[in-house]
Amino acid sequence: MRLDKLPQEFKTALPVLNQIQAAGYEAYFVGGSVRDSLLKRPIHDVDIATSATPIEIKEIFSRTVDIGIEHGTILVLQGDIGLEVTTFRTESDYQDFRHPSEVTFVRQLSEDLRRRDFTINALAMTSKGEIIDHFDGISDLKQQIIRAVGNPYERFSEDALRILRAFRFASVLGFSIDLETIAGINATKALLANISIERIEMEFTKLLVGDFRQVALREMLRLSIDEQFPVDLRAGLIQLEKVSDKLNLETAWTLLVYFNHFDEEMTKKVLKIFKHSNHFVKKIATLLAGLNIRLLDNWNIDRIYQYGLEDSLQIESILKILGFENNFEIIHEIYNKLPIYTKRDLKINGSDLLKLANGKQGKWIGTLINQIENQVLHGELANEKAILLDYASLQINNKLMID
Ligand code: ATP
Ligand code: MG
Repeated sequence: MRLDKLPQEFKTALPVLNQIQAAGYEAYFVGGSVRDSLLKRPIHDVDIATSATPIEIKEIFSRTVDIGIEHGTILVLQGDIGLEVTTFRTESDYQDFRHPSEVTFVRQLSEDLRRRDFTINALAMTSKGEIIDHFDGISDLKQQIIRAVGNPYERFSEDALRILRAFRFASVLGFSIDLETIAGINATKALLANISIERIEMEFTKLLVGDFRQVALREMLRLSIDEQFPVDLRAGLIQLEKVSDKLNLETAWTLLVYFNHFDEEMTKKVLKIFKHSNHFVKKIATLLAGLNIRLLDNWNIDRIYQYGLEDSLQIESILKILGFENNFEIIHEIYNKLPIYTKRDLKINGSDLLKLANGKQGKWIGTLINQIENQVLHGELANEKAILLDYASLQINNKLMID
């Protein structure tokens, strides 16, 4: 690749490469960034591989962070960007199939490239833009093939996560998996059951949002890879495989739990097993609940108020993907006319009520606020402080509220 044509991400990182070389070590761009720039795809993160050990890297640069020193990775800070610099290494033993049990630093680039998963991921690039390709990765890039580096059976036995990574790259890039690689996957797939769910989730997430999810899922299901998942998602995956729309992660998971007929409780349980964040779990449970309600009935003021604009639109878009009649305008129409969007928009609050009741605390405060909220929402009370105070004192004086 011509140096002046290099994507900006590499140009920014070039001084780091040059500085390592000036100190007498080798350094290269490696992995995904090289692959993606050759494919003219946007680059995520630029990774650098070097013959220098982590300690040697820390001697070269004044600002570094030890982000994975035991794996040989140091973050080098340059201005406001950080670059991951990793020492050439081999992974000698994958005893528990979870973590490389031992990382050995080596001085040869070729050793480092050999331990990478697929030929398209085993490319390196020099500071001059020359590509180093020991495993015919460029040819596989051109033919759009995902091929294990070396003996597929051994490579998947070393680290079974690579099985899922093959489908992840198939989904993201639209490449097909080489036949021998498929055979290796088929022979080792049971080992995927030993892989930590955190690592599985990271790859599965990328697979779900890939542009070529359908083909990747089809192949994955054909080989029954999903049988190794900690939860049986097969029924849902079979349905999801038929969906052609591009999906974001939230939509993909909502569809997956919906297709599996999981209820809210089961949905939460499954997402937790997949180690999703509480925020994500809540979001999917909300979208699923909203979807189920919407399938029975149309939007109304209460539902739009409850779900808010963003979730309502997202629920409607899922409905559309499912092929049901949908109407986005009605959501905007109702939303734009809402007198309040949250409780906080009410011109009266709990402490106002407390004052009216001369400080008498109790559950009645929440109950009355909810009642006022509902009436304001439906236009039965105007959201004006004087009006709401009047209404509240009436309720209090009539002892309707205070027990
Ligand atoms: P992305 O653009 O999604 O980040 P990537 O190719 O950079 O794709 P990463 O998971 O970030 O993928 O890994 C970076 C590189 O490290 C890969 O390109 C590959 O060379 C190597 N690699 C990552 N995971 C493995 C693995 N389990 N076995 C072998 N090599 C791996
Ligand atoms: Mg990466």
